[in-house]
Amino acid sequence: MLKALELHGFKSFADKTRLEFPAGITVVVGPNGSGKSNIVDAIKWVLGEQSAKSLRGKEMADVIFKGSSAHGRKPMNAAEATIIFDNAEGTLPIDAPEVHVTRRVFRSGEGEYLINRHPCRLRDVKDLCRGTGIGTDAYSIIEQGKVDTLLQASPRDRRAVFEEAAGISRFKAKKLETQRR
Ligand code: ATP
Ligand code: MG
Repeated sequence: MLKALELHGFKSFADKTRLEFPAGITVVVGPNGSGKSNIVDAIKWVLGEQSAKSLRGKEMADVIFKGSSAHGRKPMNAAEATIIFDNAEGTLPIDAPEVHVTRRVFRSGEGEYLINRHPCRLRDVKDLCRGTGIGTDAYSIIEQGKVDTLLQASPRDRRAVFEEAAGISRFKAKKLETQRR
């Protein structure tokens, strides 16, 4: 369902870069420090990751291209990432064959999210992803160490992962929301 990822000014991806994920398995290879993990960071970031640490930085502005003396490039003022989902099957609750989720952040600290180029709230991005397995704390991103964490998790936490995988968490969240009113 993940179709492509576009990066501009995100970490080491200074130039506008489009990565395609055709059907099947995509493998990213490259030497150490070439930016493989930065791609995973970008996917987490665009889906609303709020923790700079989880993106392997100190502060959120660390996702912005910081310049490179080796390549004679100046730091950039903004980072942008767009994740493109194929929605031909209507998996996402949006009436469009493709869903673009964009996040932008400026050095000033300001930032924004867009769904299909319309500004939206982080909540809208979270709502869009809930129950799909896509998302910052969903099971679709299994990083180094995550397997151990999952094995050592409490039964309750582990259950949450399965509920997300089964698509139940979307309804749980709605139920909680209704009860709070
Ligand atoms: P490994 O095989 O060691 O895991 P990797 O391919 O996963 O390597 P990454 O961790 O994705 O590599 O990339 C790290 C590189 O990204 C470093 O060279 C680092 O300088 C660069 N980098 C990280 N943040 C920025 C930034 N804000 N601006 C420019 N470059 C950055
Ligand atoms: Mg890596």
